Order: sequence, then structure tokens, then C-alpha cells
Amino acid sequence: MKAFFKGVRKHIGKLDAEQLREQYELVSDEFAQTEMLLHALNEGIVRLDAKGNVLQANPAARKILGDDTDAALKSMHLPLGRASKSIFELDYPEKRTVDVQTLPLGAETLVIVRDTTAEHLRTEEELRAGANRAVRDLAAGVAHEIGNPLNAISLNLQLLERDVGENESITICMNQVKRLDGIIRGFLNALRSPAPKLAPGSPADPLRNCLSTMQRQFEERRIQVNLDIPAALPSVAIDKEQMEQVFFNLIKNALEAMGDGSTLSVALGYDDRDVTIAFADSGVGMDAEHLSHLFEPYRTSKENGTGLGLMVTKRIIEAHSGTITAESEVGRGTTFTIRLPRLEKRVRELN
Ligand code: ADP
Ligand code: MG
Repeated sequence: MKAFFKGVRKHIGKLDAEQLREQYELVSDEFAQTEMLLHALNEGIVRLDAKGNVLQANPAARKILGDDTDAALKSMHLPLGRASKSIFELDYPEKRTVDVQTLPLGAETLVIVRDTTAEHLRTEEELRAGANRAVRDLAAGVAHEIGNPLNAISLNLQLLERDVGENESITICMNQVKRLDGIIRGFLNALRSPAPKLAPGSPADPLRNCLSTMQRQFEERRIQVNLDIPAALPSVAIDKEQMEQVFFNLIKNALEAMGDGSTLSVALGYDDRDVTIAFADSGVGMDAEHLSHLFEPYRTSKENGTGLGLMVTKRIIEAHSGTITAESEVGRGTTFTIRLPRLEKRVRELN
């Protein structure tokens, strides 16, 4: 392009009107194409004058930086007439991460702006997933190793008891060892939870199973269970055993949160996307801070709790492509709602 202009300039005195028109047409075509290119680019392209005022900005630049491109760029304090590269977090017009590059362009500065929000989110997520996996492997190894000395301690405590007879200290030690064993077992179970074996079915079956195995506890504590199951329920892809474990975890927590004689409501339902299962207890409830960390491992408010039940629950639900949410109010109770995608819906989406 440079050579072309140089040639035209050199010979401009010798060109007649027709030739000039021809050259002019070439230039204006070229200009129109450049303009089109600028419009089509996803990158924001901005030209700044020597004082840093915007001379020209393509639509992508306005989309990324907002309509007041000038103010947005000034707030970045970019070096003028120099090459540079930086990353900015924008709050306006929406939260974004942008890569901003400057290049000298004669007396002007060319600014190239790239929206890298999605890339940054992805790398963060990948890093977190990798770290999680590493921590989990390490933790599983440690937990497994703790099992052996624990067995030895337990065995020797039994031998000791046989020698010295019943003894309070030994009993305490044995109970604590039992507790440690339970925590480790729960922990390893949580880490190992296998992929669900999904088959078309209804969550009503594992729910009825679970309620009937817990019937004794309800009776002993005079807990009233209100069960609401619609006559016809759309199918979902479900691993009934794992789902029964989910229901057990949620109902156990509800029982632990409620006083004797309280009421637990369990309702199945559906909308055009999902089948829903809601567990509403009338227990102690949780405050916002507690709710915001729910489903994280080892968060427990119970003396003998492991804080693993909800983590496992969430993992199982997610392996079913579902979601679980909790609403709670201190002193009033808590409702956990599970959503499992309807089977027809899944198939439709795949198609
Ligand atoms: P754990 O029951 O061993 O403590 P969970 O993961 O099952 O572990 O639960 C974590 C914590 O979440 C509990 O200790 C309790 O503080 C809170 N929680 C769970 N379910 C309920 C509920 N239905 N009502 C009130 N608090 C709950
Ligand atoms: Mg629990």
C-alpha cells in the first residue's frame, strides 16, 4: 500500500483527470474495505491523537469500552506513542477483563482492545479444578494411611482392656478411635463416590424406600411427615441407590435440625424442564453466612458431624445433571430443592 501511494505521488503531475479518477476510485475502494474490516473485527481498534483524544473507534471498541470510549481510555492512562500491553478489569458497561495493546502510529497511538473475560474465567476454573483434584488425591492417600495405625490402636486397646479389665480411659480412647474411623470412612466414601448408573425412572421410588427405612426414627421422635407425590411424574435419568443416599442425607439433616414432634414436608413436582423434589423442615434454620458456605466439605455445626453429607449430596445431584439449592431462615426452618432434568427434555436438547 505504501509503495502504491508513493508511486501515485511521484507521478501525480503527469496524470490526467481520467487517470486521477481511476486512482481515486482505487483509494476509496480500499478505504471502504478497511472500514468494513474495522466494523467486522471483534477487537476494539481506536486511534488516539498526540494528546490521547479519540480520533476514531470501531464498533467493537464502543461495545467493549462503552459509548464514552474517550473517558474509558483516559482512565487507563495508556502510554501515548509507545508500544505497551496491559490487562484491565472494567466495571462499566459490564464487568469484563480486557487486554489493551498500544502501538505508535506516526504522531498518533493505535489502541487494540480485546475482551478476554471468558478466557480468564476459563483459566481460573481450570486451575481450580486441577488444584481440587491434587488436593483430593493427596487427602485420599493420607486418609487411607491413617486407617492402619488406627486399626492397630484399636486392637491394642482391646488387648489392654482384656488385661486390666474395664477402664474409663480405655473406653474413652476406644470411642474416639471409633469416631475417627467413622470420619475417615465417610471421607473416603465421599471422595470415591462412583459415577451414577443412570436409568429412566422416578425419584418417587427411592424416596418411598428411604422414608420407610427411617419410619422407626420418625415414630420415636413423633415427627410428622407430609408427603406430596403427584399421580403422574415425568421420567428422569436416575441412579436409584445414589438418589436414596441423597434423600437420606437431607432427611437426616432435617431430623437433626428439628425438635421432637416437628413436621417435615416432602413434595415432588415438575415443570416443563425439571422434576423437583423439595424437603422443607421446621428446624433451627441457618443464617446467610452459614448458607453461603453450605455444600462445602467439613462445614459442620454438630459435635459429631463430618460436614461431608451435603458435599456428597451435591456431587451426586450434579452427576445427574441436576441442581440443589437451599433456602433457610433462622428459627423457622430450611427447604432444600433438587431439580432433575426431565428425560424428554434431555433428548430434545441433544437433538
Ligand atoms: P453434618 O450433618 O455432618 O454436619 P452436612 O454436610 O450434612 O454435615 O451438613 C453441614 C451443615 O449444614 C450442618 O452441620 C448444619 O449446620 C447445616 N445444615 C444442613 N442441613 C440443615 C438443615 N436442614 N437445617 C439446618 N442446618 C442444616
Ligand atoms: Mg449431615
